[in-house]
Amino acid sequence: MGKARPRRIGVFGGTFDPVHIGHLRSALEMVEQLGFDELRLLPAARPPHRETPRVSAQQRLAMVELAVAGVDPLRVDDRELKRDKPSYTIDTLESLRAELGREVQLFLLMGWDAFCGLPTWHRWEELLRHCHIVVLQRPDADSEAPEALRDLLAARSVADPAALSGPSGQVTFVWQTPLAVSATQIRALLGQGRSARFLVPDAVLNYIEAHGLYRAPIAT
Ligand code: ATP
Repeated sequence: MGKARPRRIGVFGGTFDPVHIGHLRSALEMVEQLGFDELRLLPAARPPHRETPRVSAQQRLAMVELAVAGVDPLRVDDRELKRDKPSYTIDTLESLRAELGREVQLFLLMGWDAFCGLPTWHRWEELLRHCHIVVLQRPDADSEAPEALRDLLAARSVADPAALSGPSGQVTFVWQTPLAVSATQIRALLGQGRSARFLVPDAVLNYIEAHGLYRAPIAT
C-alpha cells in the first residue's frame, strides 16, 4: 500500500462576534474547493476594551462551537483565546505546527485586504515556513498586489489551488462570492431589538437569546 497522503488542514481566523452564515458558507466552500480534511475556525482574542460589551470571548467561542457542531469537517480551535491577549499569527502557526507535526499540509486562509497588509505583520516573512496561504478573492475585487508582495507572489504563487504541494510555502487564490452578511450588521439588528434569524444558525440564535447578547443597554 502507498503512503497515505498528508492531511490537509485549513485555518480560518476571525473575531466571530458572532459567527454567521457568511463565515460558515465560505468555510464549507473552501473545504470543497481545496479538499480539506479539516477546517478550523480560530476565534481571536481581543484586548478587553475592544470586546463587545457584555459578550465575552468565551461566549464568542461557545457560539462557534454550536455553529459547527455535527458539521464535520468544520472544527473550532481555541488556542488564541487561551492566551487572552491578541496573538501574532506567526505564534499561532508555530503552535499549530508543534502540535500537528511537519507533514500536515497547513493552509492559512485570509481575505485579499488582509493579504495586502501582510508586510506589516510581525515576522511576516516566516509565515510561509509553516503554512500555505490561501487568499480569498471576491470576483469584483481589485487584484493589484502592493509592491512589497510582488517578489513573494512571483516566487511562491500557484494558480491552481489543487496543485499546492508540500506542507507549506506557497500562495494561491480562490474566488468566492461572499454572502452579504456581516457581524456588524447582526449586532446592529439585535441592538435594535430586531431578529437575526436565518443570518446565524438556529443554535447560535438560541444561544444569543438565552444569554441576552447584543441587546441594547437598558436605559436608566
Ligand atoms: P465585523 O462585521 O464585526 O467586522 P465580520 O462579519 O467581518 O465581522 P470577522 O469575524 O471579522 O467577521 O471575519 C472573519 C473572517 O471571515 C474574515 O476573514 C472575513 O473576511 C470573513 N468574512 C466576514 N464576513 C464574511 C462573509 N459574509 N462571507 C465570507 N467571509 C466573510
